[in-house]
Amino acid sequence: MTNKKHIETVVVVGAGTMGQGIAHVSALGGFQTVLNDVADDLLRKAETRVRQDLQKGVEMGKVKSSDMEGALRRLKLESNMARALDAADLVIEAVPENIALKLDLFARLDRACPPHTVLASNTSALSITEMAAATKRPHQFIGMHFFNPVHKMKLVEIIRGLETNDDTFQVAEAVSLKMGKETVEVKESPGFVTSRINALIGNEAFYMLQEGIASARDIDKALKLGLNHPMGPFEMIDLVGLDTRLSILTFLHQTLGEKYRPCPLLVKYVKAGRLGKKAGKGVYDYNES
Ligand code: NAD
Repeated sequence: MTNKKHIETVVVVGAGTMGQGIAHVSALGGFQTVLNDVADDLLRKAETRVRQDLQKGVEMGKVKSSDMEGALRRLKLESNMARALDAADLVIEAVPENIALKLDLFARLDRACPPHTVLASNTSALSITEMAAATKRPHQFIGMHFFNPVHKMKLVEIIRGLETNDDTFQVAEAVSLKMGKETVEVKESPGFVTSRINALIGNEAFYMLQEGIASARDIDKALKLGLNHPMGPFEMIDLVGLDTRLSILTFLHQTLGEKYRPCPLLVKYVKAGRLGKKAGKGVYDYNES
């Protein structure tokens, strides 16, 4: 099997936080873009969000209104997976961070996609090689790790699985550039570069909070003003979601060892339902004025 190098149609599977952002940059980058999810109402919500973000871009002078209209014309919503995959040159998966779910999905995508289709996962930390092995096209499988919010963040971390071939890497790189992103190349390893470092910083911040070394606000302030981080570690974890961060740390702990053991205070917050901004409360309370 060889990949088709010229990508026209990108299918994004999963229309949540990341999927809608990837569909946004894909359509704006000139690709025919099909957004797929399990229900039509989720797709309509995602389209509204893409429209609002593009509109904001136009108001700020970052996107031309003709480009916004072109992007919206190229964006199609399709809850029927077989129909969504019909013309797929590249599929980018953005369903929840659960390996069993992803393995099952990729086995189905592999059976349903044309032979030339490249499969990519937006996983934050899981094994690209393991997901590739659920398909009969491990050479045409790659990690494309986008960042939240996708339309603002510049990077795509491109992760090679054990069997990923050079053509597939070049496809992922060319597509990312056309979406207006910069790339780094990473060999598969748990958490890649970004999630591994970020998880460790956030976990350390939680240990400091647990030990009463400083308040959450002062820890955030110290990293922002003293170390020039654009966001504090707790602001970041509230954005990412404490549950998501805990699942990444649990995986890093299992695969890389003791250094990544999730801080008990983080576990406690997740048990309490303090999942971050999306829940109205995480490290910070977003219901307070
Ligand atoms: P999310 O929960 O916001 O969205 C997931 C979407 O997938 C939901 O809309 C859900 O309905 C849909 N879905 C579930 N099963 C599906 C199926 N079988 N077919 C089609 N759609 C299905 O999750 P998210 O935050 O967008 O994360 C998605 C992936 O991106 C995860 O692997 C996550 O680790 C990764 N990621 C997340 C962030 C972040 O900051 N949230 C950043 C980088 C990478």
